[in-house]
Amino acid sequence: MRAAVLFGPQDLRVEEVPEPDAGDGVAVVEVQAATTCGTDVKMWRHGHRILPPYPCRFGHETAGVRADTGERVLVSDSVACGACGPCRAGRAQICRSPTWVLGGFAERIAAPVAALHPIPDGLPAEAAAMAEPLAAAVHAVRRGTDATDVGVLGGGPMGLMLTSLLAAQGRSVTLADPHAERRAQAEALGAHAGEHLDDRHELVFEAVGRAEAWRAAAAAAAPGGVVVLVGGCPTDTEVSFQTGPLHYEELEFRGSFHHSREEVDEALAALAADGGLWRTLRGPTISLEELPAALRTPTRGPSRKWVVDPRT
Ligand SMILES: [Zn+2]
Ligand SMILES: [Zn+2]
Repeated sequence: MRAAVLFGPQDLRVEEVPEPDAGDGVAVVEVQAATTCGTDVKMWRHGHRILPPYPCRFGHETAGVRADTGERVLVSDSVACGACGPCRAGRAQICRSPTWVLGGFAERIAAPVAALHPIPDGLPAEAAAMAEPLAAAVHAVRRGTDATDVGVLGGGPMGLMLTSLLAAQGRSVTLADPHAERRAQAEALGAHAGEHLDDRHELVFEAVGRAEAWRAAAAAAAPGGVVVLVGGCPTDTEVSFQTGPLHYEELEFRGSFHHSREEVDEALAALAADGGLWRTLRGPTISLEELPAALRTPTRGPSRKWVVDPRT
């Protein structure tokens, strides 16, 4: 079968590779759609801590059909160990030894059955694939509070996913992004949008992943507010904050990472209930062979996810 194989930073080739094997607790899934995200660009550009040694496969937002049962499934990108401290405390998102399931940019993928989720009837594969990142947004919303006045920093796919979930809960959402096209996407999803968060909000989500954005998110929180940090910076990034608001205004910072199995199912249900989000994020459908060029293309304009369909 054909698969996209990373041989090193920015060295991605589509090659003929051995067929994956089903086995004990492992099923083969025929990939119908694998969506791209910023993490894929990072993995392609300079590697990533969860990638196995080169040469390796990637692609972690994957939907298709189980070869053995014919069931339509989303392949989640990880299975929590169930045994570590966080897992036993009900926090599978920060499992200390998850099994990562990568390799969606291929005709087929072998995945633990525990990583598979049934796709709701009528939800297309390219929409179902987006349940993986959307589950992280479901988790981030849960990490926040029930404040009605919410700021979102960043109009990339994650910021738009947060906007969609928060607006669906009837909250007042203000999204900040320098790109007019992304602000228009946020407005279509029910947010107010501007270039900056000019007012201070009870609850602020940072969905950019840069030190200056973490600082801007803190500055946009109202006294007593909560800041949920969703965007991943390089792990050794140091961010400095003024102590005044943290101390005298009791600002609270909460990290948010990844998702649980239940949050993936919630995300699938949310995508099936409202097509507005996945339709705005769905970019062009491309073949495996077109993936290297797509990852090289700088993202400008609206937030879009490429849909890799290895059957094309
Ligand atoms: Zn992703
Ligand atoms: Zn664990």
